Amino acid sequence: MTTSQEHIHCLIIGSGPAGYTAAIYASRADLKPVLYTGLTPGGQLTETTEVDNFPGYPKGITGPELMEDLKNQAERFGTEVRFGMATKADLNVTPKQIWIDDTKMITADTVIISTGASAKWLGLENESRLRMNAGGVSACAVCDGFFYKGQDVAIVGAGDTAAEEATYLAKLCKKVYMIVRRGEMRASKAMQNRVQNTPNIEILWHSETHDILGKETVDGVVVKNVQTNELRTLNVTGFFVAIGHKPNTDIFKGQIDMDDMGYIQVVPGTTKTNIAGVFAVGDCADKNYRQAVTAAGSGCMGALDAERYLASVGH
Ligand code: NDP
Repeated sequence: MTTSQEHIHCLIIGSGPAGYTAAIYASRADLKPVLYTGLTPGGQLTETTEVDNFPGYPKGITGPELMEDLKNQAERFGTEVRFGMATKADLNVTPKQIWIDDTKMITADTVIISTGASAKWLGLENESRLRMNAGGVSACAVCDGFFYKGQDVAIVGAGDTAAEEATYLAKLCKKVYMIVRRGEMRASKAMQNRVQNTPNIEILWHSETHDILGKETVDGVVVKNVQTNELRTLNVTGFFVAIGHKPNTDIFKGQIDMDDMGYIQVVPGTTKTNIAGVFAVGDCADKNYRQAVTAAGSGCMGALDAERYLASVGH
């Protein structure tokens, strides 16, 4: 039920590094952006601890602090940051229509979608407990691998991400166990060859994660061979989950060009979607890089693309 309506010049949906960077640029360009945060203000980075790879923080920064800094920077130039979830959209009308929390209808001259993606998890109780405690469970080897330098870790998954992250971890860690649920990998042949030619990666085929051990931090992973039912405990201190991500794009399905996984397709080298005036930035349009800094970079591009679009249509 729509209870109120408002017109916004530049609407930004999502509050990760992509959304806030788009907001910084859009507000400095006087587009008077309004940013809706979604249900997790700050996005995926609020669920991580130390961020050591965002340029400009030589001593590192925590994920929540980084997101607060980005938010404050966006607000400093006049972005209006509001808590609320975009629940429905009609992008094929002018102006675009977006509903917030199912009740408020916004019409917007331009929309920057920065709704991000969510890592998939196995769903084990100890996985979520240790993840929430920052206790050694992670979905991003590039972000967190460094903390396990010289240690033994395990990674679950067998796609390109898992293969890439396993080889990344193998450069830092003493030993990497790769837990693969079938007798083959989904990853490209080239990536599989890299994994199989890395001496300190041991692949556990036909295996699933039975449990993750540890009170405060991971101190072992129990793996079950699904062919023999044999249980084996791996003495690892880090557990990486790389079983895929889901872009948060459900409300735009059927309206905007996406790939078969739901990632919004953009014109290469830009943030333009197939709908004039609608731009996609950050992880909702990127399944390859998924880094805070690449998301932030595309957020900047989104604001510049939006500014040029608005100028071209005389707004
Ligand atoms: P994918 O969906 O390709 O692979 C997910 C993997 O996780 C599969 O091996 C799957 O197993 C496994 N898996 C899923 N659920 C579970 C579970 N519950 N328990 C155990 N294992 C599970 O995701 P990716 O993130 O790897 O890749 C996403 C896309 O991004 C792909 O198109 C990929 O090619 C692309 N990509 C490209 C890169 C590059 O070109 N450099 C780098 C990274 C990603 P199963 O095979 O049995 O289903």
